[in-house]
Amino acid sequence: MKNFSLLLRRWFVDNARDLPWRHTTDPYHIWVSEIILQQTRVAQGIECYQRFIERFRDIHTLSCASEEEVLKCWEGMGYYSRARNLHRAAQEMVRRFGGKFPQGYEDVRSLPGIGDYTAAAILSFAWEQPYAVVDGNVYRLLSRFFAIETPIDTTAGKKEFANLAASLLPEKEIGIHNQAVMEFGALHCVPRRPNCTACILRDHCAAGGSNAELFPVKQRRTAVRNRYLNYFYILYKNNTWIRRRTEGDIWCGLYEFPLIETSYAVTDFNELTRTEDFRRLFGNADLFCVSPFPIVFKHILSHQTLFASFYRIETDTVLEELSDFICIAVEHLADYPFPRLFHRYLYG
Ligand code: SF4
Repeated sequence: MKNFSLLLRRWFVDNARDLPWRHTTDPYHIWVSEIILQQTRVAQGIECYQRFIERFRDIHTLSCASEEEVLKCWEGMGYYSRARNLHRAAQEMVRRFGGKFPQGYEDVRSLPGIGDYTAAAILSFAWEQPYAVVDGNVYRLLSRFFAIETPIDTTAGKKEFANLAASLLPEKEIGIHNQAVMEFGALHCVPRRPNCTACILRDHCAAGGSNAELFPVKQRRTAVRNRYLNYFYILYKNNTWIRRRTEGDIWCGLYEFPLIETSYAVTDFNELTRTEDFRRLFGNADLFCVSPFPIVFKHILSHQTLFASFYRIETDTVLEELSDFICIAVEHLADYPFPRLFHRYLYG
């Protein structure tokens, strides 16, 4: 439809949210905002964006920071691989592109953590380059408007929507067009009960009205697995033990307390003491559990649901068994990056 883009761009001018990254064409700022928004709601993302830009004002500053500093600044945001990729990509830009943001699609796409969507967003918002963005909002709007039944989570679906989105790009205002399509999906053509009656596209929308919620079509649901993480906050004369998580799992690079992961929900401390993992971790250490029933936090990730149980333990001896851990004063816990769950446990 000829007017599709024009209607959306006009709507965008009057209805778009006033967000800090919409006042800039600096590709560094746009990149940071897009990475944050990948898995963070806009309201929380604004605060993180401002904190991040203030702390790492450009590519050079970010590339010179330590990974731990970057993770500390990212604390509370979750999905920490985003922060590690920002850091690595900044270092690559210094090494490969003299510290400047590259303007070629393949160069941008080759940086860690940048996929098709993010590359298109940066290049179109910063330089008006003709690349169409396709995110969840775009899938929803286009699938409804054109009543497309191809599942969006298939190779054929991805290709069909990418081609369709590209064919709808206007000759000018490409950055505004891309933002308008996404914003319209986010604010008006929403997943549940979209307001089709008051929609600027209703006269041409193939699925508008009662059929809207049938789109987009998906082939399969992602399996979610439950994980049970039993943590021990051990106190010895105001000291405690922590360690840095390594690669190959969630929270890589962040810190944690001694942990036993179980395949089922453990109800109390005594049950844990009977496990082989407990004996392996603590040997015959003399431990006193202050409260045998744990404080449990549930945390939902895209493919996992975490149940983190915290036990507060006291001991009169240095635990030689925890040689893989570092022993630090409790008041220094705040100097280390921890997953948000730990903040909820420690500081309420
Ligand atoms: S008519 Fe309804 S389904 Fe179609 S674009 Fe508008 S809000 Fe979305």
